[in-house]
Amino acid sequence: MATPVNKEKDGVIKGEKLAPLSERLAKLGLVRDWDFVLHLPLRYEDLTSITPIDSLEAGQTVQIEGTVISQKFFTTSRGMQFTAEIQDPTGTMRARFVHFYPSIQYQLAKGKHVRLYGEVRLSYYNDLEMVHPKVKTGKSAESELDSSLTPIYPAGEGIQQGWLRKRIARALLDLSLKDPVPSDYTENLGLPPLAESLKYLHNPPAGADALGLQNRSCPQWQRLIFDELLAQQITLKSTREVASQNAARALSIGKSELINKFLETLPFDLTRAQKRVVSEIEADLSRSVPAHRLIQGDVGCGKTVVATLSILRAVADGHQASLMAPTEILAEQHYRKIYAWLAPLGVNVVWLTGRLKPAEKREALSKIASGDAQVIIGTHALIQAGVTFHDLVLSIVDEQHRFGVLQRLALRVPGPNGLIPHLLMLSATPIPRTLAMSYLADLEVSVIDELPPGRTPIMTKLARLSRKEEVLSVLRYEVAQGRQVYWVCPLIEESDALDLTPATTCFEELKEKLPELTVGLVHGAMPAADKEATMKDFQHGIVQVLVATTVIEVGVDVPNASLMIIEHAERFGLAQLHQLRGRVGRGAAKSACILLYDPALSEIGKERLKIIYESSDGFEIARRDLELRGPGEFLGERQSGMPFLRFADLDRDETLLTTARDVAVKWLRSDPDAANAFARRWFESPEAFLSA
Ligand code: ADP
Ligand code: MG
Repeated sequence: MATPVNKEKDGVIKGEKLAPLSERLAKLGLVRDWDFVLHLPLRYEDLTSITPIDSLEAGQTVQIEGTVISQKFFTTSRGMQFTAEIQDPTGTMRARFVHFYPSIQYQLAKGKHVRLYGEVRLSYYNDLEMVHPKVKTGKSAESELDSSLTPIYPAGEGIQQGWLRKRIARALLDLSLKDPVPSDYTENLGLPPLAESLKYLHNPPAGADALGLQNRSCPQWQRLIFDELLAQQITLKSTREVASQNAARALSIGKSELINKFLETLPFDLTRAQKRVVSEIEADLSRSVPAHRLIQGDVGCGKTVVATLSILRAVADGHQASLMAPTEILAEQHYRKIYAWLAPLGVNVVWLTGRLKPAEKREALSKIASGDAQVIIGTHALIQAGVTFHDLVLSIVDEQHRFGVLQRLALRVPGPNGLIPHLLMLSATPIPRTLAMSYLADLEVSVIDELPPGRTPIMTKLARLSRKEEVLSVLRYEVAQGRQVYWVCPLIEESDALDLTPATTCFEELKEKLPELTVGLVHGAMPAADKEATMKDFQHGIVQVLVATTVIEVGVDVPNASLMIIEHAERFGLAQLHQLRGRVGRGAAKSACILLYDPALSEIGKERLKIIYESSDGFEIARRDLELRGPGEFLGERQSGMPFLRFADLDRDETLLTTARDVAVKWLRSDPDAANAFARRWFESPEAFLSA
């Protein structure tokens, strides 16, 4: 059974080769007094009262007091057990032990006065018992009852509750708990002072509101959550102020012949939403404060043309603009489209990726540096060393969530003229409002909330993998109508761990089954030139069925494609599925998306497919994705470097978030030093907060 333990002076169990205490504590984030103070209990034990045995109910966790009237050891199929009957003036109850030290028989000897604490359960015999209650005997079973609930803290290996309690109590005493937030703000909200709240949460008095403590709705919890959100909002706002001290070129946004000509040649009218967002962007561009705006709009809403109009503002005013895309395929597609739109208007559009031949690259770079290139489109090659812009005033990032924070930061570096470019980010993966408010408070957000007219909704179907043959006949029918089809597979190479159809195998299989059709293949690992050739053939309708991995996930725009088949759909994330589905339904033809799934899928996989089946609204899907995964995973790499909230829950605490945002603005205005000092205590390194 358990080995005897020694106690170190600090109360930490001296085990075998544990890391030093300070390291173990640091692992729990416990370094400063402030960290200990914020190390709040997971739950509490209530040893403040005694419950009479005749009023016990199954499910309660309570303390009883009585005398042991009998005990026994006995053998069951699962080993030895020990039980003792306890009697108080109102009745008797059994304590049961499946694991125990032999000394239990003395601890619970007949005639002993004891206190037991534990959960009351309905036994196999339909009476009540406690399994493995905590036992107090002797003096401690006679002592006065506790006056407050006993906190149970999250603890790491070799860190004892008793030690943590003492350490936290000391931190509470040591720490200056003068309320950092002016009481005007908190009193208005009916929130108690900080010190009082912390003391309450660490040691709630007897009779405290157990439910409020558990679901964090009691005023003391609300105060902590409020402070956390306030600190976050202050940090974001201050970071932003620093960023906006940099200047950008204020563009003239008056009448422009170039823009009028462009709009005339465009084969469609802008939607109302597109027009609104264009004017929001133009207002940004006309100011000397660098724009930092996220343009959100569901797949297919027409972000590219909005981006192009912004680019034309820069060009019309005599400067350069760039557009960066996360993949070669997408960058090239943008280049082709924008080149076709702008070259006839006399605008010089240049293309830059890592794969240009040395001579081509030299030429592109020199055009970029001389200012000959007015519009530069490319991949992340645009932000690599060696690229010097002549006069870049606007950077646009398409599918911004595919870039990391550092890549986006690289776009906010001042150019030779000392100015930083206006930055616009396009995304079809919507960030739910609460999340955007709390993590991206540094961003303005525009939403294109309307699809161009004439689109027919995409029909989504779920089918087991075993129904592939039927799916193939749907595919044949579609191609016979002159339409094109995507067939998406999750992985490129054969993998032992996962029994997936790799794209190459799938490609061979489809070629064999569809000898009458032209089937093409693109995946990330193939030579760029092959990829490009196949994409071109698909764009021109030569390839009828395109087998692909998720390289086609974002941006690809072939309006004649009307059927999307996703094999092993359960392996894809929600945002990915939504993006993939958005590759069809771009023309006037009725489009469909078939999700082929392995019936042996996980619960969460099932949930994902259900969501994608039920909803075609990117915002709704993102909201449910957030619910499924939580903000940490949802944002992932996208916002890495952002400290996450520990106490606040963005759904539950939306009202407090809104309030905290208002208070942050007011406080920063009236006493910025105090506000920033307060925020730094919560989030030690605001540099980590730099959101790009
Ligand atoms: P996304 O927002 O997903 O990037 P795109 O910019 O690729 O969407 O646009 C999708 C398709 O819709 C393109 O073929 C584009 O030319 C077309 N489009 C954009 N705006 C309109 C509009 N106002 N009316 C009709 N078609 C439009
Ligand atoms: Mg796009």
